[in-house]
Amino acid sequence: MAEFGVFLDRDGTVTEEIGYVNDPARLRLIPGSAEAIALLNSRRIPAILATNQAGVARGYFKEEMIGRCHSRLEEMLAALGAKLDAIYFCPHHPSVGEPPYRQDCGCRKPKPGMLTSAAERFGLDLTRSFVIGDKASDLEVAKVVGARPLLVRTGYGEGEIELAGGRWKVEPEAIFLNLLDAVRYIVEKEAAG
Ligand SMILES: [Mg+2]
Ligand SMILES: [Zn+2]
Repeated sequence: MAEFGVFLDRDGTVTEEIGYVNDPARLRLIPGSAEAIALLNSRRIPAILATNQAGVARGYFKEEMIGRCHSRLEEMLAALGAKLDAIYFCPHHPSVGEPPYRQDCGCRKPKPGMLTSAAERFGLDLTRSFVIGDKASDLEVAKVVGARPLLVRTGYGEGEIELAGGRWKVEPEAIFLNLLDAVRYIVEKEAAG
C-alpha cells in the first residue's frame, strides 16, 4: 500500500470548469487528465477525487445527479485507461438551502473531512500526500491536513494566481499548466526519493 495519495479536485482540475454541473452530458475532461490519473494508477499511487458540490444545498440539482455525473466521469476515464481509486463529495453549504444539506459540515473544503476519511480508508500519510486543485480552498485544505498543495492554471487557477498577486493565504508548493504536469512533478519527485 502506498503511504501517500494524491487528492484531485474535480471541476477546473480534472474536468472543465463549466459552473454547476447539472447534467452528466456536460462533463468534459481537461486534456491530459486521464493520462495523469493513469500515470498515478501505473505507480499504484491512490488517486482520490474530492469535490465540493454545493449545488445540492443551493437546490440547483439533486444529490443523485452527483452519482450520475461520477458514473459518467468514471466511464470517460475508463475509456482512456484511467481509474479513480475513490470519489468523495460534499453536497453541503453552511448558510444556503435547507437541512440536511444546509449544515456546517466537516467535509466542505477547506474543511478536511474528505481527506481524513480517505486517509483512514487507504492508510495514507497526509503529510506526504498532495492536493491538486484550481482554487485557494484546495490549497487551504492541503494546509489544514499538512499535505503538499499544488495549483493548476486550468479552471479558476489563472484567476486565483492573478487575485493572489504573489500574496497567498496558502502558497502553492508549485504551479502547473494542468493536472498532467502536476502529476508528472509528483512522479518525478517520488522517483528521485
Ligand atoms: Mg475546482
Ligand atoms: Zn459537507
